[in-house]
Amino acid sequence: AVKATGVHKAFGGLHVLKGIDMTVEPGTVTVILGPSGSGKSTFLRLINQLETITAGSIEINGELIGFKHVNKGGRDVLQTLNDREIGRQRAELGMVFQRFNLFPHRTALQNVMEAPVHVAKTPKAKARAEAMAQLERVGMADRANYYPMQLSGGQQQRVAIARALAMHPKIMLFDEPTSALDPELVGEVLGVMRTLADAGMTMIVVTHEIGFAREVADQVVFMDGGVVVERGSSSIIDHPAEPRFQDFLSNVL
Ligand code: ATP
Ligand code: MG
Repeated sequence: AVKATGVHKAFGGLHVLKGIDMTVEPGTVTVILGPSGSGKSTFLRLINQLETITAGSIEINGELIGFKHVNKGGRDVLQTLNDREIGRQRAELGMVFQRFNLFPHRTALQNVMEAPVHVAKTPKAKARAEAMAQLERVGMADRANYYPMQLSGGQQQRVAIARALAMHPKIMLFDEPTSALDPELVGEVLGVMRTLADAGMTMIVVTHEIGFAREVADQVVFMDGGVVVERGSSSIIDHPAEPRFQDFLSNVL
């Protein structure tokens, strides 16, 4: 599970997140909706420790991220984790971004093998077989030897998902994975995400794809101005209570 409690984030004087509470149960899909600048990416980046938290806490599977409690002269104090400890925590997460961030000079297969070989030190033959299995899972096995520029945006995004899955994450974070795609390519990426959800992956998805949210989300969270304005099951999409959420939906639908 992911459990965020009173999460704040400020960039200098800019207070971006103002007390986010959120729980994501194992095997469930949470979709985060919200207007541009509401803090959605910042929240995902905090979960993945790409930013440091200003106040509050995030636990993943019961473990505080970024800090540990230590006993100092009989007092309990919070100490920042070292890089290795942070690396171990981040290995539980896979993240897919809006812009395809594949290595351009490596094939699809090499992209997927990269972290298993160089980070997890998996022997090459084993990493190759596992990478092929991940490419199979996203329907890209037949393009294993293509370079990113030889693939469509949707295909690149599916390879990016396979690459994240190759490290066997317990939780997948998606930050607007389809918003840079041509409309006709969105469906194939959402289809892969839906398959992952059906297989029981724990997922947090920032997207403007309302249809995906309605059909796949166990929990929908609407953020605005750095706070959670409304949350509930996917039925809140069709029956929003808060005026700000109503306005947002009438603009995206
Ligand atoms: P979008 O839908 O456009 O992706 P968002 O909800 O993901 O928006 P964030 O990217 O989290 O919003 O940004 C929230 C606010 O924080 C914005 O005002 C943004 O300019 C600011 N911000 C984000 N990252 C930084 C940073 N590294 N330094 C300073 N300000 C930042
Ligand atoms: Mg964003």
